[in-house]
Amino acid sequence: MKDLLADASAKVDEATSLLRELVEMESPSRDELLLDRIVDRAVQELERRGATVERSPAPGYGSNLLARFPSHNPSTQDQDPLLIMAHLDTVHDAGTLSHFPFELRDGFAFGPGAYDMKVGLVIALMALDVVRDTGGGWPHPLTFLVTCDEEIGAPSSRAIIEREARGARGCLVLEPCVPGGAVKTRRKGTGTFVLEVIGLPAHAGIEPEAGASAVHELARQMVRLLDFAAPELGTTLNVGVISGGTRTNVVAASATAKVDLRFFSDVEARRVDAAMRALTPFNPRCTLRVSGGADRGALERTDASAEMFATAKSIAARFGTTLMEGSTGGASDGNIVSAVGCPTLDGLGADGGGAHTLEERVRLDDLPFRIALIAGLIAEPWSSRRGPTPENSG
Ligand SMILES: [Zn+2]
Repeated sequence: MKDLLADASAKVDEATSLLRELVEMESPSRDELLLDRIVDRAVQELERRGATVERSPAPGYGSNLLARFPSHNPSTQDQDPLLIMAHLDTVHDAGTLSHFPFELRDGFAFGPGAYDMKVGLVIALMALDVVRDTGGGWPHPLTFLVTCDEEIGAPSSRAIIEREARGARGCLVLEPCVPGGAVKTRRKGTGTFVLEVIGLPAHAGIEPEAGASAVHELARQMVRLLDFAAPELGTTLNVGVISGGTRTNVVAASATAKVDLRFFSDVEARRVDAAMRALTPFNPRCTLRVSGGADRGALERTDASAEMFATAKSIAARFGTTLMEGSTGGASDGNIVSAVGCPTLDGLGADGGGAHTLEERVRLDDLPFRIALIAGLIAEPWSSRRGPTPENSG
């Protein structure tokens, strides 16, 4: 195990230069051309390491990649793979590099998308090399799923993620760790609701009583719906956008609120959903319409994912590091994986900070440990969720 850490340390220069190259290829979500260009580069790296790569074009978004690596053990070739996930899109517009270039400074690598999460793919590639160089190989097939639309909620890759997660024995997600190094065993799920109020317009001075103000109704509904939150359970609501009315002297005929929901359990998501749909107008001459709902389920901590964390913790301990466990209110593709019942460890990427800002940075002295940790996780014989097949049960 010590060897893994030494080998991982020897990969840092290579990792840093590949990270520079990937960061300098800008790749904002929905920029099909730029995403296809960086995906081409990822294909080269994956094929060079022996993967069979399937590329699914996603018009308007880029391409999604499935790279399959056969098991090093011939008798486990047909077993369920371990799934490893990364995304190549970023939240940074094309041109960001001109004022926020890739830079090595004060022990960090700065640059758009460096931390979230180009470094994640780099770490996984280096970890593969380390496992192979130490001669062990991996005991089951590995599937790398590299997507192009995580930052916008996986519109083109969701079906692929769900299908691969259903067939996998477990999933490692290389999103950034919690700042300070903890991996993520829980992530909140997300939802969006739109509450529309339809009122009756009227002159605000001549006959206000003939109208029914949609704006007034919406104001009362907002107070009511904010009570659906349960912060002690992690359930929060944010009315992020409101609109309505036309002029001060007109009783408003329509008004709309857009509401963000976050939750740690699907039970809570269903509770809020039911409450939203049961809203009734205070003013009977107003009509309410509720649309939307939960979008990415919560990444829930299960017995199986807790077991994965325990394994990761014991691998980390062999490198002298105490691996911590954490949670976040932000969702990732890990939520989609976990929602179909696949045990998931998320936030396995490098330490750093400033995700989604012009302060994005990766802590360089964390790279050896992260590469070694992923190498250890890849080399680990994970039990199959389906149990051994009769031929292999010996
Ligand atoms: Zn990310």
